[in-house]
Amino acid sequence: MPNMDTNRRTPAIDPAAATSEKDAKALQFIQEMTKNADSVQEKVLAQILTQNAHTEFLGRYKLGGATDRDTFKSKIPMITYEDLQPDILRIANGDRSPILSSHPISEFLTSSGTSAGERKLMPTIHEELDRRQLLYSLLMPVMNLYVPGLDKGKGLYFLFVKSETKTPGGLLARPVLTSYYKSEHFKTRPYDPYMVYTSPDEAILCSDSFQSMYTQMLCGLYHNKEVLRVGAVFASGLLRAIGFLQLNWQQLTHDIATGTLNPKITDPSIRECILNRSPFFKPNPTLAEFITNACSIGSWEGIITKIWPNTKYLDVIVTGAMAQYIPTLNYYSGGLPLACTMYASSECYFGLNLEPMAKPSDVSYTIMPNMAYFEFLPHEPAATATQTSTQQRLVDLVDVEIDKEYELVITTYAGLCRYRVGDILRVTGFHNSAPQFHFVRRKNVLLSIDADKTDEAELQKGVESASQLLSEFGTTVVEYTSYADTKTTIPGHYVIYWELMIKDPDSPPTDEVLNQCCLAIEESLNSVYRQGRVADNSIGPLEIRIVKGGTFEELMDYAISRGASINQYKVPRCVNFTPIMELLDSRVISTHFSPVCPRWTPSRKQ
Ligand code: AMP
Repeated sequence: MPNMDTNRRTPAIDPAAATSEKDAKALQFIQEMTKNADSVQEKVLAQILTQNAHTEFLGRYKLGGATDRDTFKSKIPMITYEDLQPDILRIANGDRSPILSSHPISEFLTSSGTSAGERKLMPTIHEELDRRQLLYSLLMPVMNLYVPGLDKGKGLYFLFVKSETKTPGGLLARPVLTSYYKSEHFKTRPYDPYMVYTSPDEAILCSDSFQSMYTQMLCGLYHNKEVLRVGAVFASGLLRAIGFLQLNWQQLTHDIATGTLNPKITDPSIRECILNRSPFFKPNPTLAEFITNACSIGSWEGIITKIWPNTKYLDVIVTGAMAQYIPTLNYYSGGLPLACTMYASSECYFGLNLEPMAKPSDVSYTIMPNMAYFEFLPHEPAATATQTSTQQRLVDLVDVEIDKEYELVITTYAGLCRYRVGDILRVTGFHNSAPQFHFVRRKNVLLSIDADKTDEAELQKGVESASQLLSEFGTTVVEYTSYADTKTTIPGHYVIYWELMIKDPDSPPTDEVLNQCCLAIEESLNSVYRQGRVADNSIGPLEIRIVKGGTFEELMDYAISRGASINQYKVPRCVNFTPIMELLDSRVISTHFSPVCPRWTPSRKQ
């Protein structure tokens, strides 16, 4: 049985407890980094400032070659993506001079965060791949302390590459995981018994999401008894896989029974790998029948443990926005432990969870001091932007205080300097001298299903653009709120509640027009959302629920009855509190869905 003692505050990352020399080395590394967190940070800053001393960016602030913290802190301002955008555009357009980094920018990583509706472009340098790989290499040695025997079987991981583009200057722009899976670091990784996946690389690297998912599921089903852990990067990805199985199990079991491959799988490298190179690909009617039995009985409760009976845990991130998926994952897995192993972004990989079997609400991430130089802006929600930048001091990694909340600010080897990531973290404790953080939330995110992040301003813009379609009916949107529905559909979808004022009740807006309103909102949402709808199939059609007149008054009455101040009451633009949802849903008079997908192409400015 895995050791699931979650009450321990300081995890025992004891190299002596490791079962291999390799693991012992990794644990020793974690201990060294976290024991010497402050001196490692000082060294990292000095290295970054030395490496980038002659960049245009640092030149603007006249550091004069200084590499110490005091000079750095007194001269370099904190910045956001928008501040950097002119420099980033120059790099994207082909300027190869050392603007942010003295090392050549190898590619852009496209963040799921957006600026003006476009994905943010994060410049990166080749050596960052080594740093990312180093963090990956620490995950299994920690997991092995808690779950023994993972070398005796395989991992069923649903991993995908996404579309990539080139900037006008010829640099690739793609998500960080696509960059990693396509790198030699991943493709030529040495054999490691703890990292044997059921998915062949050919399937992971196939950019057609149907063919990739189909093949990964097929291989996962073939090896069902050997699978010891099931995972995806985020919880939404694993649920998408379950939804895929629901739709495709008949064809999948047909392939297994007959030893053939669905003709829709046309990718030559996948066909070659499955049909000619896989030693296991033989007709297996017994297995096909077993899976058919599991999938064809009415309830899918516990389906993961039925099909993959030896699964010890699910390896998916369920912290932050992904926490909404915990009940559904528990339903499909019969309550298997959920392991959140790491905390990372396109800008930088931050750290790992030293107690991966802790329950999701107790998960804390330990930032690894070697990854970048980290600072923390005390988070006071009431502070204005100017107060924040001029009056508040950034705190160093080892100086954060338990129970306080901070916004993460990073300085990276790739040239981001005092860059605000936008994540709010709360300190829960320390491992040696390195703090551990609970991920509280991302700033300004209202709705999120998968990689998409929609803020209040974007939603407002969408509602405004859709309501123009109502003007010919003399109808206006009086109030609205929203909800990310991840429970009733796979994939989840956005729900917008609208209360309308209809001038002429005899000619209200038609169903057709309200469906078009759904589409109009989708058309105005950012490119990450539209990609999720069109290419990744990770977000379902947007829904508008029209509620009876007076519903939002009732919502206010309810909030006031629970102690909200009548003067300060504002309609929440996003809801997820069950009694409020029940109230809204009980007042719904009609529902409408986007009839088609919004427009999206991989190129930017679409
Ligand atoms: P991206 O830049 O698209 O790679 O997204 C990175 C963001 O995803 C981070 O800044 C966080 O907001 C979120 N994220 C990454 N890892 C985690 C995690 N383990 N828990 C919660 N949120 C996470």
